[in-house]
Amino acid sequence: MTDILVLGGGYTGVAAAIRVAHRTRSTGARVTLVNASPRFTERLRLHQTAAGERLADHALTDVLAGSGVEFAQGRVTALDPVRRQVSLGDGRTLGYDKLIYALGTVTDATVPGVAEHAHVYDDYAATVRLSEHLDTLTSGTVIVAGGGLTGVESAAELAEARPHLHVVLLTRGRPGSMMSTGARAYLDRALERLGVEVRAGADITKVLPDGVELAGGELIHSDATLWTTGTRGLPLAAESGLTVDERGRIVVDRVLRSVSHPDVYAVGDAAAVTQKFGVMHGTCQGGIPTGLGAADSLAATLLGRTPPPFRFGYVHQPVSLGRRDAVIQFTHPDDSPRRWYLTGRAAIAYKETVSSSPLPQFKLLKRGLVPVWAFGLTAGRS
Ligand SMILES: Cc1cc2nc3c(=O)[nH]c(=O)nc-3n(C[C@H](O)[C@H](O)[C@H](O)COP(=O)(O)OP(=O)(O)OC[C@H]3O[C@@H](n4cnc5c(N)ncnc54)[C@H](O)[C@@H]3O)c2cc1C
Repeated sequence: MTDILVLGGGYTGVAAAIRVAHRTRSTGARVTLVNASPRFTERLRLHQTAAGERLADHALTDVLAGSGVEFAQGRVTALDPVRRQVSLGDGRTLGYDKLIYALGTVTDATVPGVAEHAHVYDDYAATVRLSEHLDTLTSGTVIVAGGGLTGVESAAELAEARPHLHVVLLTRGRPGSMMSTGARAYLDRALERLGVEVRAGADITKVLPDGVELAGGELIHSDATLWTTGTRGLPLAAESGLTVDERGRIVVDRVLRSVSHPDVYAVGDAAAVTQKFGVMHGTCQGGIPTGLGAADSLAATLLGRTPPPFRFGYVHQPVSLGRRDAVIQFTHPDDSPRRWYLTGRAAIAYKETVSSSPLPQFKLLKRGLVPVWAFGLTAGRS
């Protein structure tokens, strides 16, 4: 019997586990998913959690029910890809024949003070701590560092939910710089309407207990700082001897196997996946297809077939601007913006459909049906 271990119960690990269990049923393979928490975290909605919304609690055992995947709760502390063993924090050791690594990323804390003084989106508990801290503030300033889509969504959400707080978005470039001129102008107007102060061209050199320091020495006071500027793979991937890129992500080949240890597949934010447009960046949109791709690739290998190369293309950049506004930028497969974008009500409905799609789509996967994420796989062939 082949033992398949999936590390990480986020969007990509769950998708990979369900798909590989379905595809390898005839071989009698045993699939086990390991996750630190018993809870499925809707990472796409962490900015809503930060703003104070309490989302439905989804147990991983419920999410996986009926898929044939066993769940093991535990924090992975080490991986030995030569002995094919994984160590957990409680002292257990799990062996495997094939491994799918889907442990996501952690905040890049290379700027001094981030680890000590900034709030981060590393997990649900950390996000709840930010929200609880904000609950204690009757006035004051919140700095959101980073003008990527996570920073923009967070600034807008916090400003709308907590209008008594002054939200400052600090970014090196312009917020939403990857969008078309029209979509970016819409985004700028929405941030202005919500009272978010945007400071573009800000290079933060240090996070302090009560603010940040910019290059040039200017100090900006804050009562809470949220850091969203970038992420890295967990140190344990490099420590295990797997080949990783400069951001600690596992480098994979065309069928999503580690280039150094082919019994290990890597998916989602944790993987450096090269496509013809370059290395994919961390999104759910691209991550779930990598989970499906790795599962198919692994299943094909077990069944003695040659897996086809993984191909992916982006379709959209969906951005919420609080609960009452949104902008959806449609993209070319390489994620560059097309001319079309959606705003207002249609965009809110679109964004909500995207954010709520994973759980019902996991149900389809259990039945072997094609989920909506196949759009990205089709776009990759164009
Ligand atoms: C606020 C916010 C909004 C976003 N919005 C969008 C969006 O609109 N569209 C989009 O496509 N993407 C969006 N993203 C990005 C998207 O959420 C990620 O790309 C996606 O979650 C990656 O999935 P993953 O499974 O690779 O990693 P994760 O979702 O991070 O899952 C990793 C899992 O591994 C577990 N884990 C980690 N370390 C260990 C360990 N040592 N032992 C055991 N378990 C461990 C974690 O608990 C987690 O369950 C957003 C991200 C944020 C933070």
